[in-house]
Amino acid sequence: MKLICIGRNYTDHIEELQNERPLDPVVFIKPDTSILLKKQPFFIPDFSNDIHHEVEILIKINKVGKYIDKKFAHKYYNEIGLGIDFTARDLQSKLKEKGLPWEKAKGFDGSAVIGKWIAKDTLDDVNQIDFRLEKNGDIVQKGNTRYMLWKIDEIIEYVSKYFTLKIGDVIFTGTPAGVGVVKSDDILTGYIEDQQFFSIKVK
Ligand code: ZN
Repeated sequence: MKLICIGRNYTDHIEELQNERPLDPVVFIKPDTSILLKKQPFFIPDFSNDIHHEVEILIKINKVGKYIDKKFAHKYYNEIGLGIDFTARDLQSKLKEKGLPWEKAKGFDGSAVIGKWIAKDTLDDVNQIDFRLEKNGDIVQKGNTRYMLWKIDEIIEYVSKYFTLKIGDVIFTGTPAGVGVVKSDDILTGYIEDQQFFSIKVK
């Protein structure tokens, strides 16, 4: 399975990193080895001194599809989750400067936190989901899917032009503002509305 990630999908986060507003979605892939195993802490890798948390709404694909029209995109997922796209920001900045791919900064082992899943029908509207990340009990990131530049159905339409979506693939839909560095002993806890989806210890 693959993890398809969307970058620069929230205006406030684009401004915070002083990135250009993209004309098309920014897409990258994390390998399945990037998934942080359940109940395991996140270990800061030795090649970075600036690992950032990016909390993101996740979509789990439940049907094989290619060239999916956004009108039918809702049929390709039943579950919504929450996760973290850990990013080695120092390494990513160097790669970006040189115009090189981001994989090493984004796809390393343990860089993808995938929390629990809930049926999408239990949410009133997937385009109005409130979510947040707390670091040691303080809110550091807060978002709502209504502020996405590309909505979930548009993301599915777009990425399925390039990649066949398979059962079990996960889409990371982008992060709102408030990304920041993690340190050893931090506890990162993610919520959709008032439900906890994961709690991760950093080591
Ligand atoms: Zn991200």
